[in-house]
Amino acid sequence: MKIIMLGAPGAGKGTQAKMIAEKYSIPHVSTGDIFRANIKNGTQLGMEAKQYMDQGLLVPDELTVKILLDRVANEDCKNGYVLDGFPRTIPQAEVLDKALSELGDQIDYAINVDVPDENIVKRMGGRRACLSCGATYHIEHVPPKSEGICDSCGQELVLRDDDKPETVQNRLNVYHEQTQPLIEFYSAKGVLKTVDGTMDMKEVFEAIVTILS
Ligand code: ADP
Ligand code: AMP
Repeated sequence: MKIIMLGAPGAGKGTQAKMIAEKYSIPHVSTGDIFRANIKNGTQLGMEAKQYMDQGLLVPDELTVKILLDRVANEDCKNGYVLDGFPRTIPQAEVLDKALSELGDQIDYAINVDVPDENIVKRMGGRRACLSCGATYHIEHVPPKSEGICDSCGQELVLRDDDKPETVQNRLNVYHEQTQPLIEFYSAKGVLKTVDGTMDMKEVFEAIVTILS
């Protein structure tokens, strides 16, 4: 099963993608997590990506597409995957589409997690991330057991630089201009499913499982 998560930054794509990955035993592939791991390890890719990420801009397609295609070519992706944060532009979607159709394959579901902008700004300010293992928390909705510490790996939790309010508005603008057109792209392919992302995260997950079953 090959699934794409669509939705604004902070809509809950990562939260739902992790639950889908666990339930259906497929890898969760997040381009944002791949970039953050590269930043943490000080790689050339990480240094280049950081310049864009810190401003709330998209990393150029040339950099992004290659890391994604390399990742999904891995053995663990052969039975499917859930993509979180990719594609984010029409050219990215077209490259993925072409790569899949060359293998006689296609995306099965594009799940659009729909959340209005007003809710997003509030959610992002409360998000806390573990840059070590990629776990995500929310100070109100999903607090860690011990404040500021990751339940999974014990490392310190941070407010991501790009989750600061001044950057969140940029990211929302970029989303509406460059990523939202993908809703129409996948709708035209007949694979788009929309869920109400303002519900409690368990309810959102139930709605997704109903779609996938
Ligand atoms: P995305 O991957 O789309 O950027 P996340 O999954 O990281 O978004 O979610 C953004 C923030 O909102 C996180 O702090 C997460 O814990 C919280 N969150 C996710 N889903 C919900 C929900 N349904 N209701 C309330 N908060 C949520
Ligand atoms: P995310 O963790 O998905 O919110 O991504 C964080 C940031 O990484 C984004 O704001 C972009 O700067 C960058 N990024 C992640 N995925 C992509 C992508 N598919 N295309 C371009 N930039 C991306």
